[in-house]
Parts: sequence; structure tokens; C-alpha cells
Amino acid sequence: MLSHHQLVTRRLLLAVAGLGLLSMSGCEFPAVDGGDGAAPSAAPGTPTPPSAPASPATSTGPAPTPLPPQPRSLSNPLFSLAADDRLVALTLDDGPDPVHTPLVLDILHKYGIRATFFLIGENAARQPALVREIARQGHHIANHTWTHPDLRSVTETQIRDELRRTSDLLGEATGRTPTWFRAPGGDWSDVSLQVCADLGMRPMGWSVDPQDWSRPGTSLITTRVLAAIGPGSIVLNHDGGGDRSQTIAALETYLPVLLDEGYRFTAPQ
Ligand SMILES: [Zn+2]
Repeated sequence: MLSHHQLVTRRLLLAVAGLGLLSMSGCEFPAVDGGDGAAPSAAPGTPTPPSAPASPATSTGPAPTPLPPQPRSLSNPLFSLAADDRLVALTLDDGPDPVHTPLVLDILHKYGIRATFFLIGENAARQPALVREIARQGHHIANHTWTHPDLRSVTETQIRDELRRTSDLLGEATGRTPTWFRAPGGDWSDVSLQVCADLGMRPMGWSVDPQDWSRPGTSLITTRVLAAIGPGSIVLNHDGGGDRSQTIAALETYLPVLLDEGYRFTAPQ
């Protein structure tokens, strides 16, 4: 029987593979992992024949239970919206930033677009007025940990601390506790998904990553987004973590193009 860890890893891999999302780490901070994120410790060579006859030692009941019950409301990250029309979500990570976040807000206001901001707790603690302003303008405030660590290399206690402390701060600042969580770099682990569920949040990934954090140039960010976007896409951009002027120029370029093409933007509930 597969362990819980193996099940979670397998579900993650299936979700990622199914969406073709073998993209790189999406954040500028310790972006050490350039792979697909879900480093499997589940050995692929473990033979577990799915249709093997019940072993005599366990065949006491009439019908074997296929899988153990799932703990709480554990779920895989949301990588795209269930939309068959041109409904998409724009997400902005690593803020709030006193210089770049207000510029992003101005662009979103200009085009009437609502977005989801995955804030880093320690940044939010330094910019409480900006946190309130993001929320006041109708955007969603979401949890992106307190210090942006690689959650695969810290203890469960630290993960719980990172997430709870950030949710508490954002809840106090805005009057609304975050309902979405994103792991730094998209580097999920089964423990972080469990803590996320324990704290009443859902995990959100992305399906369009123009790698804007690496500052590849405004035109490349723009063309990557326009080439990859489709119905239900979740777009990853960054308003914090460094000089985001390329991202801001790209937003100013690609958002009106997408609106002209009939795309609508939502901030998932
Ligand atoms: Zn990040």
C-alpha cells in the first residue's frame, strides 16, 4: 500500500504532469530548485500491483477498503481555473513593495482588473497601510509565508509558524483571514499542504510563468504571457523581491491586449 506521503507526491506529480506545468521555480528568493518542484522521495521502483489478489492475512472482511480516508480537507494546489471561456486569474507574489506595488495597483485600477496578491508576512509587517490599500481596492490578500523559505527544508513547526503568523497579520490588517496559500517557488510538500489545510486555506499554484522574477526583459515577459495564456490560466507575476519595473511595463503592455481579446480577470474565492 502506498504511504500517505507517496499518495500526496503522486497526486502532485499527476496534477503537474496533466497540466504540462513542468516549469521552474517562480520566485527570486532562494530559487535553488530549477526542476519541477515535487522532488519525489517515493521510489519509482516500488512494485505495488494494483490488481493483486487480497493477501490471506488481510482478507477477513468481505470487501477490502481501497484507500484510507483523506485527512481533513487536504487538497492539491489549484493550477488553473475550471473555466472553458476566457476567464483567467492574475496573481502577484512577494510583495508588498513600497515602490512597485502601488504602480501595479494603478495599472490594475486603470483596467478594472482584480488580482490576488500573495504577500510575504515580513514585508506586510513593514507596509501595513499598503496591505490595507490592496484590500481596499478589491484585490485578494493571500498568504506567501512570513520569510519566504523553501518549505521542503524546514520543520513542520516552522511551516506552521510561517503560515499562521502571516495569516494572523493579514487578518488583523484587512479584517479578512486569507483563504489562499502559495508555497515559495511553488515548492510544495505534503507537510505544507497539510498545514495549509489545517489553517483553513487552499493551495494555489499557477499555469503561466513568464519568469519575470529573473528580469528577462519586458518584451519577453509580455510574449511569454500572451503565448501561454488560455481559458482558466493562472498567471504568475511578481510585485516584490527586487526591481520589478520590467514586470510593471509588461503588465501595462499585455493586460490591454488580453482585454481586447476578450479575456476577463477574476480573483478566485
Ligand atoms: Zn515568492
